[in-house]
Order: sequence, then structure tokens, then C-alpha cells
Amino acid sequence: MSVTPYMGRDVRVTVLGVSQDGGFPQAGCGEDCCKPARENSSLRKHPVSLGIVGADSSTHLIEATRDLAWQLNLWNSMDPVERPLDSLWITHSHHGHIDGLGLFGREVINSDNLQVNCSKSLSKLIENTPNWNLLVKLKNIYLNEFENLKSHTPTPNCGFSIKPIQVPHRAELSDMHAFLIQGPNKNLLFLPDHDSWENTLKFVNKTEIFEWFDDENIDIALIDGTFWSSNELKQRNQKVVIHPPIVETLQLIGEKKEGMPEIKFTHLNHTNPLNHEDSNEYSILKKMGWSISKEGEIYTL
Ligand SMILES: [Zn+2]
Ligand SMILES: [Zn+2]
Ligand SMILES: [Zn+2]
Repeated sequence: MSVTPYMGRDVRVTVLGVSQDGGFPQAGCGEDCCKPARENSSLRKHPVSLGIVGADSSTHLIEATRDLAWQLNLWNSMDPVERPLDSLWITHSHHGHIDGLGLFGREVINSDNLQVNCSKSLSKLIENTPNWNLLVKLKNIYLNEFENLKSHTPTPNCGFSIKPIQVPHRAELSDMHAFLIQGPNKNLLFLPDHDSWENTLKFVNKTEIFEWFDDENIDIALIDGTFWSSNELKQRNQKVVIHPPIVETLQLIGEKKEGMPEIKFTHLNHTNPLNHEDSNEYSILKKMGWSISKEGEIYTL
């Protein structure tokens, strides 16, 4: 991969992780799906995360995963900016999206009052969880609730804003927000988890995916691609894990045509055949003109 040194002014988003909460290979999976990644570390994938460098060279992280060390290293190698993080944004409380929050504490990064942006319900959960509450008490982080934010621009001259969009996703501990990153020229939607298109579209008051994407002026959409089909759920309790399968999303969006936004599937479960580029499913997706999100990819907004 070639590295273009960061020159300031534009807004750049680097993909730092593309797998479901458990990563790839996944702990406890001895099956064939994880075999290639167990044997070849270059095939490994990390829980979903994005890094944003603003027009003022400020840095912003989306999701706090346990693979933060690897992810910050990747980010720095792709888009070198030497400074501590200016803000952190978290979509929801499920394990892989927040399990790295403790890394900002004294034992590791020991951050100095890092701005953490999240919903009111997630902020309550952080305050009520003793080891995360300690980060607030020791001023490693401070919590910015979306509901109280006057502006969603994390630093005054970063050149972008983040619009949190609530979407239905099993909410045992907190609600879930997709993020719309609005840059000077392009908008990128980050929707790693949701329950179903039916519920999400109803919630945002739309009837079709492209109607929603058009209204929000979305150019790039990184969307929930957890499962290729519901067959993958057979080994698990179908009632517990609910995401719209990719085959269903493909039925709704059809083949890629000119003028359509770039749609990339992310948050891939270890069982998802799209983890293997030699799979039939991978060529079906490619034939339809769509693709999966890849670690190290950079979007200029
Ligand atoms: Zn997830
Ligand atoms: Zn597996
Ligand atoms: Zn989730």
C-alpha cells in the first residue's frame, strides 16, 4: 500500500477495522471459517473502527476496540499525524465497539480529558460501570452527550461534523447511533449494526434505502454486513443475533448503477463467506458492483 503524507486541509477517513465484535479469527471458533486467519496473520481482521483526520490535522476515533494498539499503528502508517486524539465517538455498548475504552486509563494511554461523544443512555452506562467511571473520575475522559451538543463539530476548524442517527438495534444496555460524517465535499455513513431494514427505515421515516441515502446526501455508506445469509445463524440462537443478512440488502439495493452511492459491507462475522476472496459469494457481490470495506482504505471527504 502506498502512503501519501498528510498535508492538512482535507478531511480523511481511514478504515481501521471491518469485523464483527469478535474479530477474525474469533475466540472459541475451531471451525473451518477461521482456519485461514488462524494460520495466516495477514488475513486477520479487527472489530469495526474508523480514524478521521480533520482539516486542522485534529484526530478523531470512532469506536474503542481492544485492538486499539494495532489500529492506531495502522492509522499512523497510512495517515501519519503525531498528536493525541482530539475526540472519540462510540455508536453503542456492544462488546467490540467499547471494550477498548479502558485502554485510555492509567495502565495504558493515560489520556488527558479526552472528549468522548456518545448518547445519553451510553453515557449513563459508562458512569454506572465502575472501571469506566474511574476514567471519568480521574479525568482521563469526559463525556459529551449527543443530546446536549450544540454542534457536532469536534474541534472548531476540523472541517467536518458528525451527525448521530439513532437506529433500532437490540438495546439491552444502551441505544445505538449510526454516524453520518459530513465533510466539505462528501458524506460518509457508518452503520455497522442494526436489526433490520424494515425497522431502521421506519425509524428514520423512509420507505427505501436510497430514499434515505439521497435525503442525507450520502456518497459512501459502510453498512452492516454481519451475515451473508441467515443460514450462518444455525449454530447460534437465531433470536439473539439479528442483523439484516447481505442477501436481503442486495435484494433491496440491486446492482450498482451510475450515480448510486458507494456501498461497502462491514462488521463481517467470522462465519461470513465474504471473509474469503475465493468464495462464490465474494464473486456474486463483485459482479453486482458492490464490495466489502477493507482495513487501511482511505476516503477523502
Ligand atoms: Zn457490533
Ligand atoms: Zn470461525
Ligand atoms: Zn451491536
